[in-house]
Amino acid sequence: MFPQDFSKLEVIGEGKTKIVRRMEDPDLVLLEFKDAITALDGGKKDTLTGKGHINARISSFLFEFLSKEGVPTHYVSFIEPNYMVVRRLKMLPVEVVCRNIAAGSFTKKYPVKVGSRLKYPIVEYYLKDDLRHDPMMNEDHIVVLGILPSIEEVKEIKELVLKVNKSLSNFLDSKGITLVDFKLEFGRDKDGKICIGDEINGDSMRLWDKETGRVLDKDVYRQGKKLGEVLETYRECYRRIIGEEPKV
Ligand code: UDP
Repeated sequence: MFPQDFSKLEVIGEGKTKIVRRMEDPDLVLLEFKDAITALDGGKKDTLTGKGHINARISSFLFEFLSKEGVPTHYVSFIEPNYMVVRRLKMLPVEVVCRNIAAGSFTKKYPVKVGSRLKYPIVEYYLKDDLRHDPMMNEDHIVVLGILPSIEEVKEIKELVLKVNKSLSNFLDSKGITLVDFKLEFGRDKDGKICIGDEINGDSMRLWDKETGRVLDKDVYRQGKKLGEVLETYRECYRRIIGEEPKV
């Protein structure tokens, strides 16, 4: 059913949920989305058949949508069932989180109720450093630690994240979904331009049903729900965003 076999392509990187493979064109890489699901810094791990397909397709769909909105991303094309061709970026060691509604670590750290809408969207920066447990940084940290050369580029990233937030929130709202919060990663392309990399799907966003509050993202796994229910949640997320049944 899916004739392409990329298993012969050299692996140049592997994380918990994706494998990065070299392509003939040195400016491109192939991202293979695995069926693995993890939480608690990798302490909890399972296999969900079809998750790789679902997350590759949702990421591709949302990157295409953002490209049309004028947002620079690494996305090039989707290959069924679970591959994304992307431009090779030099990634920045930063995770940028944007929050519309209080949830997750934000409600553990600060005196704010889960589910309360924030006065305006918050942007947070975290250093990608497992040994240091990804400490939060402010804009000055990013420049002083040499991650970006100037505060102007930090502001450029913040503006991009807020633009993505507006576009994605509106789009998801039209599908009956509230965008609670999400995480983006950035890198530079071969011309030095800052672009969004990595992925955008139910592993990197909190998504709640607009009417019922039903959780449509990885939180169901973090909460310890049965794997059948977790898979059904990913499938429902796919149906809502893509508008059809997953193919795997
Ligand atoms: N997030 C992510 N990767 C991380 C940490 C967070 O994709 O390593 C996403 C997470 O799914 C959520 C948002 O960023 O949509 C904010 O996460 P939070 O800081 O609340 O952390 P969590 O409670 O998820 O650990």
